[in-house]
Amino acid sequence: MKMKNSVTFNVDHSRMGRGVYLSKIDRMSNVSTVTLDVRMRVPYKEEGISNEEMHTFEHCFATAVRDCAENIENMAVAYFGPMGCQTGYYLVLNFLDTAEDKYFEILSKLLEDSCLYIEKMQEVPAKNALQCGNYLTLGGMDIALKAEKELYDVVKEMKEQGDFHKYVYLED
Ligand SMILES: [Zn+2]
Repeated sequence: MKMKNSVTFNVDHSRMGRGVYLSKIDRMSNVSTVTLDVRMRVPYKEEGISNEEMHTFEHCFATAVRDCAENIENMAVAYFGPMGCQTGYYLVLNFLDTAEDKYFEILSKLLEDSCLYIEKMQEVPAKNALQCGNYLTLGGMDIALKAEKELYDVVKEMKEQGDFHKYVYLED
């Protein structure tokens, strides 16, 4: 069986640092779905993100990014969650009638605002048996804040360079 290659399987994971990468853009009519690869560990050089940190940061960042995106016109957050390889997260957004050269400005601000929002959180959102499928594996705000500061450093670097981080692709 010939499998249709996923875009991310064409990325050279041996030559990748921490960063925010624009993984792909899927267009359907006037909606573009943008997938960001929020890579928080260097594959094979740094230890993967622990289950506790991944789950805790998922709750905090998913809440933060949705709240921060509420007033952005023509954009909606579709999804935020961890990668199976435990080296980062995917952030998926839908844009309506928005030029691609606007993505960086909108998304770098959204990521920065979301980090600062987490710094103001008093507790990990939805840390209970009704709102989460496995809440006892969640850590506290100390873990979320440590992860947030690591992401904020990556976002600041991205803003300084004026563009998303760039993948190195495998040769066909
Ligand atoms: Zn949960």
